[in-house]
Amino acid sequence: MILHNPRLLTAAAWLGGGQLALSLIPPADADQVPYQGLVALQEGSLADNLEGYMLNSEQLPSRLFLVSTPTSVTGLLLQRLPDDDLASEINLDHADEAWHSIVTLANTVSDEELLNLPAETLLRRLFAEYPCRLYPPRSLSYRCTCSRSKSDRTLRVLDANEIEALLAELGEITVDCEFCGTRYRYDAIDIGTLLNSDPPAPTPDVLH
Ligand SMILES: [Zn+2]
Repeated sequence: MILHNPRLLTAAAWLGGGQLALSLIPPADADQVPYQGLVALQEGSLADNLEGYMLNSEQLPSRLFLVSTPTSVTGLLLQRLPDDDLASEINLDHADEAWHSIVTLANTVSDEELLNLPAETLLRRLFAEYPCRLYPPRSLSYRCTCSRSKSDRTLRVLDANEIEALLAELGEITVDCEFCGTRYRYDAIDIGTLLNSDPPAPTPDVLH
């Protein structure tokens, strides 16, 4: 198995002069607004950059351990809660001391342990002297909120003459999603359909 530790590579080397975008998109039924943070990539690994982001933007000291194989990525995130919560949670008077002990223990984690141990076993092994509470796991999936209809809406913002001029110049029009890289292509037939159809009615707001 090839182990690949992202901490050994600089994020800038991976991503060139890119930016790091963090998007928090709450579930559709949640009463929260989406949030997005954009930060320039600094020296260091992806984990270093995320730690820096959380410290500077969220004011939360954090440590992040990432390891990947060609087919999976595993991570361990430590985040320091506000001192009052932390001190009461683990029954220590000195939150600084507690934080440093936990970071020191977490630093002993190996790539193999991160990749192969179930979360509960890993937590008990690393933090045996502290009470641990494991929340129910939530499954992850890869998806983007872009869609063909959102792409249609982007094009509809343009004037019809502008769209036709673009089409004449380029032969087809493409709309790229900057998050997931999906490219939506419009040839002359697609553009004709778009320009000759009424925009879909906006989804009515639901009042509770
Ligand atoms: Zn997308």
